[in-house]
Amino acid sequence: MSERFFPDSMPAPLADHVTLPFWQAAAEHRLVVQRCTACGRTRLPPAPVCTDCRSAEADWKEVPGRGEVYTYTVVHRPIAAGQELPFVIAVIALEESGGLRMISNVVDAKPEEVAIGAPVELVWEDMSAELAIPRFRLVRR
Ligand SMILES: [Zn+2]
Repeated sequence: MSERFFPDSMPAPLADHVTLPFWQAAAEHRLVVQRCTACGRTRLPPAPVCTDCRSAEADWKEVPGRGEVYTYTVVHRPIAAGQELPFVIAVIALEESGGLRMISNVVDAKPEEVAIGAPVELVWEDMSAELAIPRFRLVRR
C-alpha cells in the first residue's frame, strides 16, 4: 500500500526519450541520476548531452535517496483540485549523487518543521501503476 500526499488531479510529468529511463526506474521505486560515461559528471534533470564535456554518452546511477533541504518554499495556493494546503516545495541536496540537487516536496511535515539543512529521506508516491513520484520526508531523531 503506497502512501499518498497529493491528489490524482495533480498535473503529471511528461516523459520523453531523454527522461523516460528516469521515470521507468521511478516506477520501480529506484531513484537514478544520469551519469556521463565520458567524464563521470552526473546530471539531473536528464539532458541529451553532458554540460561539462558535451558527450552524448551516458548511463544511470542509482542513488540512495538521502539528503538535506538546500532551500524550500511554502505554497498556500493550490495547483490541483482537492489539494491540501499549505504544501512545501523544496530543493533537496542528494547524497552520493555527485553534488546534485533535485526539486521535490517535503511531505508529512508542517511547513514550520521544515528547515534549511534538515536531513530528509526519499518516499515514493505511487500516483498510478506507471507513475511514481519521488518526494522527501524529514528524518526525525
Ligand atoms: Zn561529460
